[in-house]
Amino acid sequence: MQSEIIANSGKREGGKLSFRTTGFILVIYGLLSAVLAVCAGLLDATVPVGMLLLLWAMAWLAHVVLLFLIPRYFSLGTAILIAMGCGIAVGGVTGKSVFGRFLADWLNLYGVVFLRLLVMVVPVLILISITRGVASLGDPVALGRLGFKTVAFYLMTTVIAVFIGLLCVNVMHPGKKLAESITVSNPAPESEDSGAPGDKAAAASQTQGTYGQRLQKEVIPALIKSPFLDGINPLTIILFALLLGAAIGSLGPKGTPLLDVVQSLDDALVRMILWFMKLAPMAVFTLMAKATGEFGGAYLQTLAYYVFTVLSGLVIHFFILACVIVPLMGRISPVRFFRAMSPALSLGFGISSSSATLPLTIHCANRRLGVDRSVCEFMLPVGATVNMDGTALYQAVAVMFLAFANGLESTLSQQIFVFAGAVLVSIGTAGIPGGSIALMPVTLGLLGLGPEVIGLIIGVDRLLDMCRTVVNITGDVAGCAVVARSEGKLSCGEDTAHSMDLVS
Ligand code: ASP
Repeated sequence: MQSEIIANSGKREGGKLSFRTTGFILVIYGLLSAVLAVCAGLLDATVPVGMLLLLWAMAWLAHVVLLFLIPRYFSLGTAILIAMGCGIAVGGVTGKSVFGRFLADWLNLYGVVFLRLLVMVVPVLILISITRGVASLGDPVALGRLGFKTVAFYLMTTVIAVFIGLLCVNVMHPGKKLAESITVSNPAPESEDSGAPGDKAAAASQTQGTYGQRLQKEVIPALIKSPFLDGINPLTIILFALLLGAAIGSLGPKGTPLLDVVQSLDDALVRMILWFMKLAPMAVFTLMAKATGEFGGAYLQTLAYYVFTVLSGLVIHFFILACVIVPLMGRISPVRFFRAMSPALSLGFGISSSSATLPLTIHCANRRLGVDRSVCEFMLPVGATVNMDGTALYQAVAVMFLAFANGLESTLSQQIFVFAGAVLVSIGTAGIPGGSIALMPVTLGLLGLGPEVIGLIIGVDRLLDMCRTVVNITGDVAGCAVVARSEGKLSCGEDTAHSMDLVS
């Protein structure tokens, strides 16, 4: 079910809209744009009527292109990438002019609402997805040797991934330049939401600003709240979910109805997130335009360095999995591994979803790599649910980057928090496009940072999502191959039998 939802979401929607519906949508966008332009013109910057018309036209064009035209003709991933490019270009051109301020203060309401909606589902999402993941392992005692090996291997590679991520981000320090050259807005009010101690003085000073800014910083966070996180440490929810999942698993057949409920809830939450994703092109556009307009070249440079840091970490971990662990522990050569798994890896790259790729991953691991079907069918679904090496690594780099960019000094306790947060959050992340972003507020909250800071990196998330999904799938299959080898359940694989290049 989850795979179906995700697979469908990746495709552009067909079907022609009637002339009337199209006209209706255009009128609604026109009215919305007029409201925003009038608010901006009258409340924030007393501008002449001619300028108001230009602001209206700009907003209307943005609505039509980003919420209507691009999503109709491109898949979500492509739409987000196009929105990112447009955001950088428009933000660079408008800078701090009246247009730039309109974008940052008013059109960016879309960016703020989008992030807030994601944050709203976070607590329920972590509760349900971790419970589901752990419960689907079955009785922790009855799982026996295979279960123990699965959990041990997946945990080991996740820990290695986070370690590599922290190493890369600490050595390369991608956020430092941004913190030096700009003052990133203080995220104190959001930290109240995340349960972390907020800086009241800073929060009070943030109440100043234009009406648009105050809407973003005060009104929307008050309206779209995350009630579960008020005063509750997210780690408490994660611990509860881990125990609840284990308890459901240990009930055996008696726990099945409850597991079904949890699975349906998980699917419903995924569907909700996909609804929110309809706003993603507009949100990415405004967030990127705002950041580029405010921080200019320093921001783009830092962003490129950040992307490079994440990619370096992912490449190192991918290399360790495919060229060290698989040959040494699974006695499979990297060439055979790549040849067998390339269809699944390229599909995962294209659709950014390890869940939607699962059927093909199982097929490739079984038929092409030669892993026994029983091992594949147990380990790969578990891996696609709870084992996300790329995601864990990404969480560590992204959260530390945002901490550096917001001027936080890196302390040992912070790194330990991020380490634990990234490992746990990766267990709860859904294998869907943008799954990491949905849960990132949890790790950010551990450092007292609010979800708004995600706006700095959201524009490049899609690109990194494609890459971390490949690492997620590789981690799952590597575990499967290693455990199968240790159980004597690895053969040559039918489809690649001609390339029997087993090491040793
Ligand atoms: N897209 C990733 C996956 O499907 C999850 C993530 O966002 O990290 O594995």
